[in-house]
Amino acid sequence: MQFTPLEEWDMGLKAPLFIGGPCSAESPEQMDETLAGVANLPVQVFRAGIWKPRTRPNAFEGVGKKGLPWLKENGQKHNRPVTAEVANARHVEEALRHGIDILWIGARTTVNPFAVQAIADALEGVDVPVMVKNPVNPDLALWIGAIERLFHKGIHKIAAIHRGFSSYAPSKYRNNPRWEIPIELRRRHPDLPIICDPSHICGRRDLLAAVSQKAMDLDFDGLMIESHCNPDVALSDAKQQITPAVLGTLLANLVMRTPEGDNPASMTQLEQLREMIDELDHELLEVLGKRMSLSQEIGAFKRQNNVSILQTMRWNEIFNQRMENGTNQGLGEDFMLTFIQALHKESIRRQAMIMNPDERSNE
Ligand code: PEP
Ligand code: MN
Repeated sequence: MQFTPLEEWDMGLKAPLFIGGPCSAESPEQMDETLAGVANLPVQVFRAGIWKPRTRPNAFEGVGKKGLPWLKENGQKHNRPVTAEVANARHVEEALRHGIDILWIGARTTVNPFAVQAIADALEGVDVPVMVKNPVNPDLALWIGAIERLFHKGIHKIAAIHRGFSSYAPSKYRNNPRWEIPIELRRRHPDLPIICDPSHICGRRDLLAAVSQKAMDLDFDGLMIESHCNPDVALSDAKQQITPAVLGTLLANLVMRTPEGDNPASMTQLEQLREMIDELDHELLEVLGKRMSLSQEIGAFKRQNNVSILQTMRWNEIFNQRMENGTNQGLGEDFMLTFIQALHKESIRRQAMIMNPDERSNE
């Protein structure tokens, strides 16, 4: 796949591409006031959700197609291209009929290849740029698959939007950034523009600036940030929206680390590699934590059923299997030996604590 650079989308766009506007179009007044504010900022594209996918029914589900002219007219008034989310062929048709300049596919749609294919089919022969948000789950292949479905229908003006991934584990983020995933996307498709959506990653205002800066440091091509003239009463995503004035400050405070150092290209690469290491170590420790909780569960079971902690056969089996597994992964024998023994020691310590709580044995 070879993608059309942002600069060649014929809208005068250039990186860093800032996209701003409300989560949802709510009324003509809210759109006029918000976008008049955003128009004073270095924001190149206006956004608004028209049809809103919500977690549960009977909440605000977007104003529907009557919001399209509110968005388009503001774009024309302030001389900005506009973008809206489409989730099916009917949305595509309505958005195109109203002159929406750029379409985007939401995270809840990208997960579904049927839906993406239906959108791609509706776009056959149409030269409109499409931005594809990552699927809600951390599945890079599914994200790339959605992009391919569009590409095969002749859409080459494509950008990816990184909006984080949902997770059961408690986290300060609404959607965990899992930066290693967009970084891997960049490695595989270096010419695909990638925009970060800090609003849906953070879910709250106080984290937006740090995530935006991080995206810039990781060489993203732009940011999409939700802005509302009166965020506290927004009908959707109130906690994460900011006023145009606050958005202005956020953008003005971004440090653009452009190629100035000795070898800027290699620094970016180094930063990306370190980012991946941090993320992997985090996952590794998370998995280790889960493993230890399982050991404790086993300990509770053994206690209840009077099973001894150490069963030599099982331990030998684990030891041999893990050694083989590790060396097959290219890990050194000494390292594996130390690692398995440490793992086993910690498991036994935890089980012992459960089985003989009075002793509080530390060994
Ligand atoms: C949005 O951008 O308003 C939106 C619904 O985002 P996402 O698809 O990332 O949840
Ligand atoms: Mn939103």
